[in-house]
Amino acid sequence: MADSPDTPALEPKTVKVSRGDTLMGLMVGAGAGRSDAHEAITALREVYSPRRLRPGQEIELTFSTISAIDEEEANAQGSADDTNADSLLMGLSLQSAVDEIVQVARAAASDDFVAEAIARPLERQVLHGSGTIESSLFVAARNAGIPNSVMIGLMRAFSYDVDFQREIQPGDKFDLVYEAFYDNEGKMAKTGNILVASLSLSGTPLNLYSFTPSSGFTDFFDEKGQAVRKALLRTPVDGARLSSGFGVRKHPILGYNKMHKGLDFAAPSGTPIYAAGDGVIERIGRNGGYGKYIRIRHHSGYKTAYAHMKGYGKGVKKGKRVKQGQIIGYVGTTGRSTGPHLHYEVLVNNKQVNPRKIKLPAGEKLKKQDLKNFQAHRADMDQLRQDIIAGNAQIVQAAPANCNAPQSVDESGTATASAASPNGC
Ligand SMILES: [Zn+2]
Repeated sequence: MADSPDTPALEPKTVKVSRGDTLMGLMVGAGAGRSDAHEAITALREVYSPRRLRPGQEIELTFSTISAIDEEEANAQGSADDTNADSLLMGLSLQSAVDEIVQVARAAASDDFVAEAIARPLERQVLHGSGTIESSLFVAARNAGIPNSVMIGLMRAFSYDVDFQREIQPGDKFDLVYEAFYDNEGKMAKTGNILVASLSLSGTPLNLYSFTPSSGFTDFFDEKGQAVRKALLRTPVDGARLSSGFGVRKHPILGYNKMHKGLDFAAPSGTPIYAAGDGVIERIGRNGGYGKYIRIRHHSGYKTAYAHMKGYGKGVKKGKRVKQGQIIGYVGTTGRSTGPHLHYEVLVNNKQVNPRKIKLPAGEKLKKQDLKNFQAHRADMDQLRQDIIAGNAQIVQAAPANCNAPQSVDESGTATASAASPNGC
């Protein structure tokens, strides 16, 4: 570190936010003078609210050591503040978003603190990952280095056609082409869209392609250009375990045989519950043994009901319109319930039916120019997947040691997936 009076010696100090910390407290604790800290925070507020700070977040403070600045000024500063007289706060920086940092620095001319937000462009990369399911989809995804958010996306894409509770068998395969965004240190900042999602169930491959038709609404389409989206989701909670099916069973609390008019999904308390389809909130509130309850009216005489909720989603009120996949509430155990789970019902003409037996009408089928564009897009995506797989071995070798790009490794230890970028991360 340079230490002559002509070149100020800057000393960085990283502080980590803990629960209950204030930015002021952290800065003073690290040696900043109170008035300096106050001025720096005032400047920061113009581009970033300190209330957005979260435990675990790091803030880099920069100090100028005494030898590098005017002694008299530093002493005056120190005595006025009655704090650390050895160093002077020069600025701070923190990551405000995955693709942005904010910086506060003393302006050379005025000595005032000035804040700015600096975009940190992320690099988009297309990744390929594949695997064979041995026990669960999530274990297989982890083994393949595929982030959970991407796997949840795959489950959503297939949720209209595949009953993940029943139809997934050991030996089934998945294959994904998806986007990921990396920062300049080669760390994955976030995942993007799934471009192609494939599942092979008992040897039958199903390929879905993300595509934006002229309507402007991006969706998944099968190889023939048929939208996979249907009026109702099969499972209105992610990754939940079906703990009780539809039909007669011995009631866990009442003890006698009783018709179970819905499906129970066991999930941790607080797990989000999604509206199974577009519709209007017909009923919301306590409903006897159902506890906290919501019923949604959909098109064509369908309704769905959700019971034992812990609480309701933001802005979800009676008469409100909801979209498929919107969070309407959270898993709980209110009403007559033995533990956190969602009791889910589908009603046709106000009568409960087995949600697993209903045959929902097919979604939109692409036509004319949309279909032509889709077929071209599909061919491009198939080619892209082939290119990534073919170029794979070289990409893995070229990857630098600190590259964090997910790479899937099969049981023999061979990498089977990697980034599509030339340097592999
Ligand atoms: Zn139930």
